Amino acid sequence: MAVPRRVTIEKLREFLLSQSSVQAPDVQRILSYVTGRSEAWLRAYGETEVSPKAESQAREFAQRRASGEPLPYILGTAGFHGHSFLVDNRVLVPRPETEHLVDEALEFINDKERPRVLDVGTGSGAIACSILAETGTNVHANAIDVSADALLVAMANAQRLGVEPRLTFFIGDVSTPALRPFFDVIVANLPYVPTKDIAPSPDPVSFEPRIALDGGADGLDQYRRFLKHAPRLLALDGIVLMEAAPPIIADLEALARAAFPAAEVTIGIDYGKRARYVKVRTRE
Ligand code: GLN
Repeated sequence: MAVPRRVTIEKLREFLLSQSSVQAPDVQRILSYVTGRSEAWLRAYGETEVSPKAESQAREFAQRRASGEPLPYILGTAGFHGHSFLVDNRVLVPRPETEHLVDEALEFINDKERPRVLDVGTGSGAIACSILAETGTNVHANAIDVSADALLVAMANAQRLGVEPRLTFFIGDVSTPALRPFFDVIVANLPYVPTKDIAPSPDPVSFEPRIALDGGADGLDQYRRFLKHAPRLLALDGIVLMEAAPPIIADLEALARAAFPAAEVTIGIDYGKRARYVKVRTRE
């Protein structure tokens, strides 16, 4: 089907939906991006003509989406905890379930005087930047990642959210002596997908950096390493929050208990009521 010469928003929407396997909500977001209009506006003024430039961009974006590329990479941003983060294929797309770690961290630091937060494997910086954006100038954070590429994205996000004066970045992993104890909150969303479970192309996950996903044979390699160092970094009265996949949460909980024998260790549930993270609470 050729696109008629006078292309309206409605015609373009129908065309994109008929051409590719792209779902209606993604088409709507693509149309909103290329026209610079809100989705509500697009619904009300569907008979408005679309410029040739917007039309060709929409067609290109829909094609990329149909090939599996995650929409946030195509549009350049992802929403997380009420903020907009720059994302591209150097970082994992922040997931809604990771918002629980931010909620827990915010609740814990609520009444602390000068809390220090450590975000291990920061990626796009979504966790550290959200925590800082939602707290006062008394809160400081360190963010660390082994990927220099990811840190560039995280730094851009820190600037975008205006939190860079309170955020210090480090390259490397949690074993680096550059991290100065003690942290009141340590948050880690480390790679936890068992190698054999990493989705192949054209799954959207196949577009994401493997280094951000691959947790080794059982998914827990990075957490084993992390838990060797976390105890010496955590304050006497502090928390560690670690996200993982529901099937490996019980194993992660056992590792956490072994690393923090005197702490209270609990499992947190995500929006879908699945076991999603482990929380370690130490007390003086
Ligand atoms: N939740 C991501 C996924 O299932 C994995 C994130 C991670 O490994 N930290 O694709």
